[in-house]
Amino acid sequence: MAIRTILTAPDPRLKKKSKPVDSVDAEVRQLMDDMLETMYDAPGIGLAAPQIGELARVIVLDIDREELKTGPILMANPEIIEASDEDATYEEGCLSVPEHYSDVVRPAKVTVRYLDRDGETKEMTCEGLLATCVQHEIDHLDGVLFIDHISALKRNMILRKLLKARKEAERDEAEGKPASKPKSKKESAGAI
Ligand SMILES: [Zn+2]
Repeated sequence: MAIRTILTAPDPRLKKKSKPVDSVDAEVRQLMDDMLETMYDAPGIGLAAPQIGELARVIVLDIDREELKTGPILMANPEIIEASDEDATYEEGCLSVPEHYSDVVRPAKVTVRYLDRDGETKEMTCEGLLATCVQHEIDHLDGVLFIDHISALKRNMILRKLLKARKEAERDEAEGKPASKPKSKKESAGAI
């Protein structure tokens, strides 16, 4: 397993549509394992393959909250086959949009069909935070970020701040300053 670099917005690769995998072979399993390790290291509760620059329809999740402990969930070619009319609102964050959070409205309950790590077709009905996370990750496979669900005004403000932070980090690196990592555990808890 290996920890991979997580791309951050506005990286153009995050806006691309990922391709389905033909089957869950050794290469896909390796990708799933790398993604899990990268997600735990971040730390985050979900990660999609395009976030590490692999345009394959693969996502991983592991929610560890008092009210919900899922353990690792690995999905290839996930597809939402049913969504509730009822909506739920969660404050979302994203490892590719560091330090920014915003309320996003999504269906409260979804059923997902996917291939598991053994290549078996499975279906899972997700509610609450898990429903939000799985929809957030599937969005990544279609080049959609949570900031695409909020107002253009707020989205552009976040993107400007991210660009500014990146330029400052590059300047600090050029001047030999150590990289500052302001993120706290609490703020990262919602990063998916
Ligand atoms: Zn995300």
